[in-house]
Amino acid sequence: MDLRTGKVWMVRGTGMALALSLAACATQVPVEAQHQSRVAQNTAPSTSAAMNAADAKFAAFIRDFRATAIAAGIRPDIYDRSMAGIARNASVERANTSQPEFVKPVWSYLDSAVSDDRVSMGQQMEATYPGMLSGLESRYGVSKDILVAIWGMESNYGRQMGGYNMFEALATLAYDGPRQEFARRELIAALKMEQEEGLSPKQMTSSWAGAFGQTQFEPTAFASHAVDGDGDGKRDLWHSPADALASSAVLLKNAGWTTGAPCYVEVTLPAGFAYEQADADTTKPVSDWKALGVKRANGAGLPVGAGNAAIYLPAGARGPAFMAFDNFRTVLKYNNAASYALAVCYLADRLHGGAPIMASWPRDEQPLTSDQRTQFQTALQALGYDVGAIDGVLGRKTRNALRQYQKAHGLAADGFPTMEMLGRLNAELKSR
Ligand code: CA
Repeated sequence: MDLRTGKVWMVRGTGMALALSLAACATQVPVEAQHQSRVAQNTAPSTSAAMNAADAKFAAFIRDFRATAIAAGIRPDIYDRSMAGIARNASVERANTSQPEFVKPVWSYLDSAVSDDRVSMGQQMEATYPGMLSGLESRYGVSKDILVAIWGMESNYGRQMGGYNMFEALATLAYDGPRQEFARRELIAALKMEQEEGLSPKQMTSSWAGAFGQTQFEPTAFASHAVDGDGDGKRDLWHSPADALASSAVLLKNAGWTTGAPCYVEVTLPAGFAYEQADADTTKPVSDWKALGVKRANGAGLPVGAGNAAIYLPAGARGPAFMAFDNFRTVLKYNNAASYALAVCYLADRLHGGAPIMASWPRDEQPLTSDQRTQFQTALQALGYDVGAIDGVLGRKTRNALRQYQKAHGLAADGFPTMEMLGRLNAELKSR
């Protein structure tokens, strides 16, 4: 499922280039994916031969993939009509390979993802569909606020579902680039969906990454989790909010949603807190965190007995702190980026009348450019820390390396990369 917040798209899921961690800052990789119609790029004579060769290779791929699809149970006529007239889509190709210059800071992301407008529109949706939502809640045990929040995050309550031809988008990704394996699987599942649900390929629109409908399911997620929520005998995630939200409820239930348990609570950390404990893999019973001096930010009691929790610092030691429970992790099954799960849980909380996040964000922090992100990794590596591949993506390995560096230098080991930290690393390298 990818989601659109303004012009920023994130790609969900398996095998996609997302850095995933509760300790992550704004680690999702936003990809500009404008709805530009396919344009003929082969205007310059020098590139036209190369473009034609690439188009011929794409056509050959579509011909060859036919046998794979048929072997997977797709009827030849379904394949042929779905692939008729499709071509490599230039804007899908750009979205597939673009590396953002800046990664949007988590506070800017939340400003748009959980805007006052989105909160009030979500409350209107709850007022419009009270019976449907309480029915889903009692049937699947998943909070209606979470379902409505996912609806808001994924498609702005059905307003932005993606306008690509699903087959063209998935075939473009399946033909070439970093998501081939994922896209081939999704392409087969999309064909199967068309065949089994009796859909017309023309009506099957999606995001550039093949996610579709009100809750931006991928075709394989449709196969595993989609249900008929309104009882009309069809599973229509494009037109029926009840089908879409019921399917999301099933997905979350299958992923282990715990009925009635919290997603997160905002907390404050005591002075001298060992920040290396603020990590997705470090979960403790609430009582243990309490004993360490962690408190609920609003002064109420911590939900002792709500199971184990991790401490999540989306913007490092200078920003808000959260205690994230199992249900927070369950939302990650929907879209594997911690800031996405935070946005869903936060929006759900606001729909329920919850207050805005109390602590302030370090809005003075400047996001690192892609060059600076590479420098960051290069400097840590030169200082003897294992950052994995130097790719300009400050993922889990880089952040763990940074934590080790911070710890060794008596700094708060939050693993949060800042401009100041980059300056410090570079200064240390120079002084050697
Ligand atoms: Ca239905």
